[in-house]
Amino acid sequence: MRHNISILINLLIIQGLAVLVVSQGFDFFYFVQQWPGSYCDSKQSCCYPKSGKPASDFSIHGLWPNYQDGSYPSNCDPDSPFDQSKISDLAGRMQEDWPSLACPSSDGLIFWSHEWDKHGTCSEFVLDQHDYFATALNLKKQVDFLQILTNAGINPNGEFYSLESIKDAIKGATGYSPWIECNIDESSNSQLYQIYMCVDNSGTNITECDVLPHGKCASEIKFPSF
Ligand code: 5GP
Ligand code: 5GP
Repeated sequence: MRHNISILINLLIIQGLAVLVVSQGFDFFYFVQQWPGSYCDSKQSCCYPKSGKPASDFSIHGLWPNYQDGSYPSNCDPDSPFDQSKISDLAGRMQEDWPSLACPSSDGLIFWSHEWDKHGTCSEFVLDQHDYFATALNLKKQVDFLQILTNAGINPNGEFYSLESIKDAIKGATGYSPWIECNIDESSNSQLYQIYMCVDNSGTNITECDVLPHGKCASEIKFPSF
């Protein structure tokens, strides 16, 4: 009997520790892709990377750990600075799929370093630096938003499309509803800027989003060329 009680107490302690460890975590990731045309034709404008104009395609902005209540952790580990050498095997894919459009022209390192420091360090206990970037690159391969949209007759040609038609196309092709973030061009037109999908906290599977970030789009939004 006493033996059983001590086993029970041990189990409770282990369970308590497990809850503690898990509660340091986060609930899910936002995987965010940007449309370069909408970054560039806005007031802030853009600078092409040193390697040249990126492809006319959605590119990665970030993979962001988030809590179910809508808040999110950031800058979790100052002792884990971005280290380019840890992703040297991914360099080509990073340049292609995660270019930086900010000015002045760059080779992406400042952008990647910012994303790692602010967001990546908060999921470090599941994905180390190499795997964090590799996971984002692999997620990008899983959903080809440009293909999905063009298949639905939604093309980056400066025309306006209903927000619903964009969401429906993505939901139809992936099974999950995206969150669309808009920005405005220099003439104040609402336009398709970023697409958010939710991903489970291992970075493996796309999921439905239970909470959505704020931000507004008009009901008809521009899809600028790039
Ligand atoms: P903004 O001010 O453009 O909404 O967001 C600025 C930055 O804050 C984003 O690029 C991103 O790094 C972070 N951010 C904004 N909203 C969210 C969110 O809902 N979750 C997470 N994890 N980060 C966010
Ligand atoms: P956030 O905190 O919004 O995740 O990160 C955005 C930061 O990365 C800003 O400081 C922005 O200037 C910089 N940045 C560099 N390149 C890009 C880019 O191509 N797109 C966006 N949205 N931000 C970029």
